[in-house]
Amino acid sequence: MKISEIFKQKRRTLSFEFFPPKKVENEQTLFNTIDVLKKYDPDFVSITYGAGGSSQDKTVEWTLKIKKQYGLNPMMHLTCITATREFVDRIVDTLKENSIYNILALRGDLPEGFDKSGMEFSYAYQLVGYLKEKGGFSIGVAGYPEGHPESPSLDKDVEYLKMKIDAGGDFIITQLFFDNRKFFDFLDRLNKFGVTVPVVAGIMPVLNLKQVSRFTDMCGATIPKELLNKLSGKDKNDAYKVGIEYAVKQCQELIDNGVKGLHFYTLNKFNATEDILKAVKLF
Ligand code: FAD
Repeated sequence: MKISEIFKQKRRTLSFEFFPPKKVENEQTLFNTIDVLKKYDPDFVSITYGAGGSSQDKTVEWTLKIKKQYGLNPMMHLTCITATREFVDRIVDTLKENSIYNILALRGDLPEGFDKSGMEFSYAYQLVGYLKEKGGFSIGVAGYPEGHPESPSLDKDVEYLKMKIDAGGDFIITQLFFDNRKFFDFLDRLNKFGVTVPVVAGIMPVLNLKQVSRFTDMCGATIPKELLNKLSGKDKNDAYKVGIEYAVKQCQELIDNGVKGLHFYTLNKFNATEDILKAVKLF
């Protein structure tokens, strides 16, 4: 089912993100995770796409597998990097042949030293426009409550995001964030720029201090001092509890303020997502 249709029927969506395992021995972990999380009846699940690497075929493979084997509603991620029109056409045909109607259209993170001059689609909005022309898909795009790291300003960031919506984007899924204030300010900016599509919050709990700098380096997400203080000096088990407790509060506040959807970055594990879902009142 198209995600844009689900938004018309439901107050709020629940979704999970998985990545295609690189090694065969890790596939069972993902199968187990899907087995556990599917009982929460997700509206869709998304499968990430390796921007420059060899996992691209795996993304298609897992997208099809998740639909066929589990009957879940998949959304395939697709990036501009290395994508030609011909290649996108082939993906579109495969998805249509398999009755898959959702794509998250992204630029992808540029690998170090990547030569951008050969890109047929330089920005996600161009890929969105091309997919829209093809017809038949509900198209999601990425949004950044704290701004994309390459954006010159928060307003410019939303201006560019609006280009993705104007090109045919139906909904936004955000980068992970930990401070709801940043998310609410982001919604205000979208409103100011006339962007009215549903915005789904990307959720990933911090489960240990080591993750903190990784998240900050990776996507510029700031970790609130309150959370940092609570995590500091904790052993593995206690840090996990602190991270889950924080994420539960974060999710509940988003829900209480009418968030259109929660999208969990599962990292192919079920524990943290399940522990959060057990504790929040989703509806
Ligand atoms: P764009 O929207 O094209 O923006 C890229 C940069 O260019 C931004 O700084 C933007 O402000 C700027 N920009 C946009 N339009 C213009 C313009 N017209 N002129 C000048 N500047 C402009 N990456 C993967 O490789 N695989 C995945 O599966 C994946 N999944 C993701 C899922 C989610 C929910 C999110 C939030 C991100 C995901 N990413 C993934 C990461 C994403 O690819 C990176 O953040 C990437 O750097 C930007 O992608 P984008 O689609 O937001 O790009």
